[in-house]
Amino acid sequence: TTFKEMKIPKPIMDVLLEKGIKKPSPIQVQGLPVILSGRDMIGIAYTGSGKTLVFTLPMVLFALEEERKLPIIQGEGPFGLILCPSRELARQTYDLVNSFTNALQKNGHPPLRTLLAIGGIDLREQEHIFKKGVHMIVATPGRLLDLLNKKKINFKLCKYLGLDEADRLIDLGFEDDIRSVLDNFTSQRQTLLFSATMPKKIQEFARSALVLPVEVNV
Ligand code: AMP
Repeated sequence: TTFKEMKIPKPIMDVLLEKGIKKPSPIQVQGLPVILSGRDMIGIAYTGSGKTLVFTLPMVLFALEEERKLPIIQGEGPFGLILCPSRELARQTYDLVNSFTNALQKNGHPPLRTLLAIGGIDLREQEHIFKKGVHMIVATPGRLLDLLNKKKINFKLCKYLGLDEADRLIDLGFEDDIRSVLDNFTSQRQTLLFSATMPKKIQEFARSALVLPVEVNV
């Protein structure tokens, strides 16, 4: 399978080529079609497998579709959320999302705004994003809960949730925070859970947060 066969838009394929990503890795071959079809998915994969692309690219395409149907207005959004266990991971994911949205915008697609919500970032600097409305958020759980509690964001329009390195998220004690975040989702959502390992705790969490997930193990 090629990215072209997966109907990945040309501007995004160009970004991938620039990054030296020519043909999809096994998790991408198996995972992208599942997520693009709208199913929930559990991905058992390590860093280095190319997993980040699997949960970011469909979110960007989904946000683009939603934006076309009903554009985000002031104070609204996001359409999609990705939770990461560390600032570094969140930043890398955010950078990848931005490389996609920038390329799409350059090619005449509507601009999509993404918020990086991690500790250590002064959110006042990001006020302009809240003002215009935000399409996607990449966050660590603590900072995201802060924003929720301050009523800076809500998840009424959010229908896409990606959990990266779920085993680390749970090990770091974020389970209750994540559940509090999930309580704020009001729409039916698509949920993706990626984890290097699948201990009982993660399996139980997945059972409660995902619906009929397809399991991809590479
Ligand atoms: P990840 O597992 O998502 O952390 O990705 C690890 C590294 O692999 C990143 O530097 C990606 O740019 C790179 N990568 C992702 N997918 C591919 C691919 N299909 N071919 C070559 N490199 C890739």
